[in-house]
Amino acid sequence: MPGDPHLELRGRLIRSLGSLREMLPGSFVERKRACGRTNCHCADGKNLHAQYQISVLVDGKPKAFNIPAQLVEQVRHKIEMRRRFDAAAATVCGINLKRFLKEKETQ
Ligand SMILES: [Zn+2]
Repeated sequence: MPGDPHLELRGRLIRSLGSLREMLPGSFVERKRACGRTNCHCADGKNLHAQYQISVLVDGKPKAFNIPAQLVEQVRHKIEMRRRFDAAAATVCGINLKRFLKEKETQ
């Protein structure tokens, strides 16, 4: 007898969550800025420096933290993990709600 595809999906999603344990909150932001040195290429106001930040609520207040260049890809990936975690949780909750409503009918 084939298993319930929803339960298989739910199990697969739950098992995948462990790989998301390094997830980070907030959003990834790229800012352009001038460094202020008059002899720098950014002084023309066009060839600005890229500054990457993690924008996040801390105790309900919006904060932005600079990301060191060598950590940019890693942090971007970890923020993306949070999106996948939320998507997995939403799918699991949707499956469980359907199951609850179905179970309720048979009570
Ligand atoms: Zn500059």
